[in-house]
Amino acid sequence: MTEVPPDVAEYLTSPDTLPEWVRFYRAYPTVTAAVQAVGDGESVAVFTSEHTAYVQRVIFVEGKPVIAVVLYPNSQAREALVTAYLNHGDPETATAAILQALPYLLPEDIDLTGIDCVVEPGKGACPRFVFRRRVSAAALHTWRDYDELHPLGELYQVLSWHCTGHNIAEGSEAVAILRAHGLPAVGCAACGESLTKRHPARPGTWVCLAEEYGPHCEAFDDPFRELHELDDAGIGGPHDPAGSDLGPVA
Ligand SMILES: [Zn+2]
Repeated sequence: MTEVPPDVAEYLTSPDTLPEWVRFYRAYPTVTAAVQAVGDGESVAVFTSEHTAYVQRVIFVEGKPVIAVVLYPNSQAREALVTAYLNHGDPETATAAILQALPYLLPEDIDLTGIDCVVEPGKGACPRFVFRRRVSAAALHTWRDYDELHPLGELYQVLSWHCTGHNIAEGSEAVAILRAHGLPAVGCAACGESLTKRHPARPGTWVCLAEEYGPHCEAFDDPFRELHELDDAGIGGPHDPAGSDLGPVA
């Protein structure tokens, strides 16, 4: 039976600890236990998205144990990345350009030492553009050692869902940065949403990714807007794809 360090024991009994961490720390109360489990063929990983979406895994790289963390841009930033990717005609070129542009979406003072911008397969029409850090687990025994020696720091904060004024760029700001790096990112001049007209479900229509029923620009002067909710036709309205230089959809 693996020893459970007192801080982990306390964490496990706290009502505030999220279920994914309870499962993870119950199974692997120390880094040593996690490394042992990987060596025995187990897949050691936890996904959490309380403040920032990230995955923590223990893996072997070239025979050596590593704690790997992948941090995901928040959904607003992701919309700019995915729409730019879809607008681009060539997935390979688009991927290379987005990976090159990714650090520029972050506030200037963010230290990316030890962080790689990488792409991982997504489940949909677009891969995921992520920040990855790998730290050797060889000299680490407890998770406290790991957390204290290798805090996720500001990168974790700037990717947070919570708007602090010091976040990854999103909306029209992200679109401008991606365009400056040669990507066909497009923002609505009226509402600022990131747009694509190469969404697989709505080819040829400018939409943002959340619009499963078609475009619904918040700035559109909807003639049905003042009607009683029982008469609401909910027609939405088109976006204004400012600065778009995309050709017709193939
Ligand atoms: Zn709009």
